[in-house]
Amino acid sequence: MQILVVNAGSSSLKVKVLELASQKVLYSELIEHIGESGSIVQNHEQALNTLEMDFNTIDIVGHRVVHGGEKFSNAVLIDEDVMQTIRSLIPLAALHNPANLQGIELMQKLLPHTPQYAVFDTAFHTTLQKEAYLYALPYELYEKHHIRRYGFHGTSHKYLLQEAAKHLEKKLESTNLITLHLGNGESICAIKNGKSIDISMGFTPLEGLIMGSRSGDIDAEIVLFMQNSLGLSANEVDIILNKKSGLIGICGENDVREILIRDDERAKLAIDIMVRRIQKYIGSYLVLLGGNVDALVFSGGIGEHSQIIREKILDNAMFKDIKTFVIETDEELEIAKECFALIKSAK
Ligand code: ADP
Repeated sequence: MQILVVNAGSSSLKVKVLELASQKVLYSELIEHIGESGSIVQNHEQALNTLEMDFNTIDIVGHRVVHGGEKFSNAVLIDEDVMQTIRSLIPLAALHNPANLQGIELMQKLLPHTPQYAVFDTAFHTTLQKEAYLYALPYELYEKHHIRRYGFHGTSHKYLLQEAAKHLEKKLESTNLITLHLGNGESICAIKNGKSIDISMGFTPLEGLIMGSRSGDIDAEIVLFMQNSLGLSANEVDIILNKKSGLIGICGENDVREILIRDDERAKLAIDIMVRRIQKYIGSYLVLLGGNVDALVFSGGIGEHSQIIREKILDNAMFKDIKTFVIETDEELEIAKECFALIKSAK
């Protein structure tokens, strides 16, 4: 059985074809800068047309969908109801869900008779308890407007859990981990007995760790100060927080490889601030897990490839006895596995 995994982002399209039995990747393509000035690919339909693959061999399609709200805790077969729910979540994921929907609609047009599934980035974190997902805001903001922590990168954290459990030779339901997805986007997850109990990303992917261009945690008053005292518009603040902050904000660069070879104060500061925030989260998740952690798992471009950053993070007496793993994440394989599990359970 061949599955086509589609990850349609706001300006990118990532596709992979996997053979389910062997988990072999038969085709893989990433098209970036869609719709950007100077790009020859102006929309996702054009991007699809550039793919040099045979769609006739595809048995099922699995779509990555960023926001599943509180509803989806597992992969689902896409029907009109599911489409409507993903649409209704656009206010919570204005950047991602519209692009994901577009990917689904294009594939439905191209392969109208092929079953299509959605796998949500938020799904793995639907196990969070109220004390973990509620913000201390007026309760009706949660009840009426669904303002709560959702958490993202769930497909990656779930994959890391399964791989780490294999290395540990433990059952998922008795595995406790702290998983770190450190790439351009960064998140850290506390996993207790195989379930996500806390995640650094929140209502949006902005919260938590210091990322390539996102600020992570800041005092919410800073947003009001930028608007009321500095006269910035909501849109300008949004761009500052998501595109001009994080490592870029501190040292003008978001590629950790480049930052590490620089020898200036700002570059050093950017790394120190990022590492300190990660350590702070590991410490707090250790407490949430009662000190009972089977392993720390590093993943994502930085977590997988930068020994220097891993060493800096682990340079703390609190972490010295914890086992660590470096595991290459594979969100597409996880999406494929989840779609397959759903098909099997339906039979
Ligand atoms: P994304 O979140 O966009 O999927 P990735 O997980 O691919 O990002 O991570 C990309 C980042 O990984 C790069 O911006 C770079 O900072 C970092 N990275 C990749 N290779 C290395 C390396 N050898 N050393 C340090 N950082 C690296």
